[in-house]
Amino acid sequence: MSHDVFTPDKRSAVMAAVKGKNTKPEIQVRKLAHALGYRFRLHRRDLPGSPDLVFPGRRAVIFVHGCFWHGHDCRRGARAPKTTAAYWRDKIARNKARDAHALAALESQGWRALTLWECELKREDFAGRIGAFLGRTGETALSKRQVGLSQKKPRPGRTAR
Ligand SMILES: [Zn+2]
Repeated sequence: MSHDVFTPDKRSAVMAAVKGKNTKPEIQVRKLAHALGYRFRLHRRDLPGSPDLVFPGRRAVIFVHGCFWHGHDCRRGARAPKTTAAYWRDKIARNKARDAHALAALESQGWRALTLWECELKREDFAGRIGAFLGRTGETALSKRQVGLSQKKPRPGRTAR
């Protein structure tokens, strides 16, 4: 099976996106959430859709979606290689269906979900959006154990001055 419509560099980025893990936008959001002081788990497979970031104490999850693979309604999401258009269309349609199903399932289990899109990373105040979605750090019902854990770890770049 060959879909060589990408340059080697592009291809490795695409392959990372295919796997859906540790993509650049996702790492960007992860770093941001960490810098904001939130504690989270990654890719919890016991949850619908295996959300990218899971905040157990807040019963909240964040998905970071690549526009192309998850069929975002934006310019990047509309860009499809012509040679294998049917192949990508099917794949993207399946991803979208899976995303919608995961969101509904999460909601029915009492989880709140936020979806952040790759294209938004450049132009939006993600720190503000993440903060508004999760609430301030330290103000939700974290267990004592979780609080203890978070206090042990130093937060890079957050020195008290
Ligand atoms: Zn987009």
